[in-house]
Amino acid sequence: MQSKLEQLKSEALLALKSVKDKAQLEELENKFFGRKNGELTNIMKGLKDLADDARKVVGQVANDVKIEIENALQSKKKELSQADWQANLEKERLDTTQPVLPKNERGHFHPNTIVQNDLEELFTSMGFMTLDGSELESDYYNFSALNIPETHPARDMQDTFYVKGHGVDSNVPWVMRTQTSAMQVRAMQKYGAPVRAIVPGKCFRNEATDVRHEHTFYQLEGFVVGENITFAHLKGVLETVAKHLYGEETQVRLRPKYYPFVEPGVNGEVTCFLCKGEGCRVCKNTGWLEIFGAGMIHPNVLKEGNIDSTKNQGFAFGFGLTRLVMLKYGIEDIRHLESGDLKFLKQF
Ligand SMILES: [Zn+2]
Repeated sequence: MQSKLEQLKSEALLALKSVKDKAQLEELENKFFGRKNGELTNIMKGLKDLADDARKVVGQVANDVKIEIENALQSKKKELSQADWQANLEKERLDTTQPVLPKNERGHFHPNTIVQNDLEELFTSMGFMTLDGSELESDYYNFSALNIPETHPARDMQDTFYVKGHGVDSNVPWVMRTQTSAMQVRAMQKYGAPVRAIVPGKCFRNEATDVRHEHTFYQLEGFVVGENITFAHLKGVLETVAKHLYGEETQVRLRPKYYPFVEPGVNGEVTCFLCKGEGCRVCKNTGWLEIFGAGMIHPNVLKEGNIDSTKNQGFAFGFGLTRLVMLKYGIEDIRHLESGDLKFLKQF
């Protein structure tokens, strides 16, 4: 019996050494101390059948073995929970030596957006609504509705990107809009008269690009339709914009120019903000900067917009928003603006 106990002890201590987790430990505990069939439990139970003397001796040994195995179990238990804790700690580890993101690494507005936002605010204060319009536009709204007939050279002049196979009828061409004016007739059809709106946004032309030409650029279109709208209203709005952009002393000069969608049409210039009209490199020594095209909306265009041109009149104007940006910041090459070059963009 004694040798059996010794054997049990060494078996138990050996088995404990290879225990890897709590489940294995529990299994082992059960094997030796289980109430019903634990090996040590059974031996303890059998003690009562021994003679008094033998029971005393074997009982002592059995007790020692029991305590020794129990202690070993306890220390294994402790060891395992320590390992658990360390594993958790490793999982939740924070690397405090990792460098933080530098401060002020937030983006900012593109120069186009800065100027566009500024003008949107100005026009909103004059009661204009701001419309987006789509960049892919039907040939009808981009040209035909604006009194530009099929044969008109403007369609060649503007070197349009045509898109095939778009829309319900694949024979009808669609275009990447060449001008924000494409929204004029859409807005008239939707809102009727009176209407007062601006349309800032991207336009596209199939340009051979150079410092002054880019395939993608920004315009800002504006128009007002209503009863008793006159040329004086147009000039008033243009002067307000010019003074807002270049200061109170800025003057506006309007000279006749032909555009199919206005009658009469004008070319709008403002006194050069740099030389104040003296003549310099920026204004090519004329003292004037060409900033916009404008005019009274052609009755044919009003008709396309379902506006009764015997009752209502309207004026329209367009700015090269990109040109305003270049003048404002003294940007020499238009291609910088769409380049996505951070070295350029970070200056604003
Ligand atoms: Zn000048």
